[in-house]
Amino acid sequence: MKSAIDGIRHTFRMMTWSWRFIRTWRSGYILCAALGILQNAWMSITTAYLVGQTTAHAAAGDFAAMLRTIGIVAVSAIAGIAVITAVNYHAARIHVLGLAQIRKALFAKLTAMPAAEADRHRSGDLSARLSMDTERAASFFGSMMTGDSSLFAIPVSILICTVICIVKEPVIGIINLLFAFISIYANLACIRSEYAWQTKRMGMMSSLTQRMIDMISGSIVVRMFGLASHLQEQYKKDSADVCSYAMRGAAYNAMRSSSSSAIQWSAIIFTLVAGGVLVHMGVSDLGTIVFIVLLQSQINNDVLLMTNSYQQLQFATIAAVRVKEVLDCPDDTMRKLEAIPDAQAAHAIDIRHVTVSYGNDSPAINQLSLQVGNGERLAIVGGSGGGKSTLIRCLLELAPADAGSVHLFGHPRERYSQDAVRDLIAYVPQNNYLFDGTIRDNIAWGNADTADERIWHAAREAGLAELIRSLPDGMDTRVGDHGAQLSGGQRQRIAIARAMVKDAPLLLLDEATSALDGESEALVQHALERLMAGRTAIVIAHRLSTIRSADRIIVMENGEVVEEGNHDQLLRTAGRYAQLYRLQYA
Ligand code: ADP
Repeated sequence: MKSAIDGIRHTFRMMTWSWRFIRTWRSGYILCAALGILQNAWMSITTAYLVGQTTAHAAAGDFAAMLRTIGIVAVSAIAGIAVITAVNYHAARIHVLGLAQIRKALFAKLTAMPAAEADRHRSGDLSARLSMDTERAASFFGSMMTGDSSLFAIPVSILICTVICIVKEPVIGIINLLFAFISIYANLACIRSEYAWQTKRMGMMSSLTQRMIDMISGSIVVRMFGLASHLQEQYKKDSADVCSYAMRGAAYNAMRSSSSSAIQWSAIIFTLVAGGVLVHMGVSDLGTIVFIVLLQSQINNDVLLMTNSYQQLQFATIAAVRVKEVLDCPDDTMRKLEAIPDAQAAHAIDIRHVTVSYGNDSPAINQLSLQVGNGERLAIVGGSGGGKSTLIRCLLELAPADAGSVHLFGHPRERYSQDAVRDLIAYVPQNNYLFDGTIRDNIAWGNADTADERIWHAAREAGLAELIRSLPDGMDTRVGDHGAQLSGGQRQRIAIARAMVKDAPLLLLDEATSALDGESEALVQHALERLMAGRTAIVIAHRLSTIRSADRIIVMENGEVVEEGNHDQLLRTAGRYAQLYRLQYA
């Protein structure tokens, strides 16, 4: 009993939490719920009235009165149906609007959560929560809560029918009330057990979605390395788990149906036996017993409807918990300060004793101090895992620093808002992400009002003009899913054009050419040279030929700077840089 009550309490907590999404339409929602209750009560009463009066008139042989009664009830039924149609339509509208509110809140959360938090979730898990779970959670404000068969309306109908039963035949009525309680309790116990399995099933759906995403996003790797059968095996295993959880849930559901039926039939048999005895003893009449049996089946139906709705409510509760977990993730704390960057500052970047550990024991960057002069071109090289990308992520505030400080153009970074920091920096990653849209959208992304001339200028500087002119739709050519219609080099040059349009004083290039073939690399390298002209740039480079002309080169290993100088100095030092250089060009 305790666990059933705990379950109701938990469901109620999640219902009140989800209320925030339809608060704007609360008056309409409450009206729908209230009209649903009234309509249901009205229908229960008129049904009872119809049966009672018709039986009485028929027994008395007064057919004219019987037809009159049927006419009154027909008119009231038509009015009731009209009301419930309007209620159902309005409730469906609120349901759709509430669902849109949840989606908006989730999307806003995705943009507001810190990058480290977003990294923590697998994309499959987030997708499942954003699609399936969101739909399910919204059923909290669907037909379960409003209309004539809502969780609020049905208990009223049960109450009315039970009271009429008790008034007509107290002994049968009270015993039937006991049967109804037993049926509700058995249902709640089964639903509670089913809840546990459904929670596991819905959690496992995240893994299944992740496998789908791996299959779609990594389709080339999957085909090249013959991973399809391996992935299929994994998918089959996860899918078997989902089935097994669903089947265990279904077993409790079946148990619920059969126990409900057993209890209902026991109640009907009891009523028939007790009614037969009462009629035989002359204490009651046949009409009353028929009437009570009809009420009884109405109560049985209502109990079943109510528990079915409660079961659906459990699905909504599980989904709402999963949606809430995402919405409860902390937001990036947004700074409002607006320091004015000092364009004449001696150092564009001044990193002081910065440590970044991602929560691990050994830090990815350890007590790093580094100054980058205004207008300087600094290259960072080093073996894999040395902390180069982490340094870039730290500068972009995507990896939080555990200690130390970063100054940008003469001010501590904390004196700028996050948006201001990102306005100062243009970033070209190793693999540029292209959004669904046209080449123009992707170059001007985030700067929708950019003049056409500026977009074309950026495209020319990035060496894209010829390509764009050769395309039938020119700038308005759609790039396909993640830029699938373009080559790696073309995607990178779009990233460079995007950085050109942004025109930020600070450039961060994270192995921008390392994934390209020789010819593409040369084209991209030219575009990069034009982009870097007159700007401060930090360049992470894998191919050392691309950074020979850098003002300064640092070598990072284990999160620390182990060597520093220009290309010639470092070669003369015959240290780690010279070793890396020899490995590539010897
Ligand atoms: P590099 O760019 O020089 O190859 P990274 O900065 O990517 O090196 O990685 C430095 C270290 O930080 C590595 O040990 C890597 O495993 C760890 N690391 C990088 N990104 C994360 C992350 N998101 N979470 C936890 N550890 C990370």
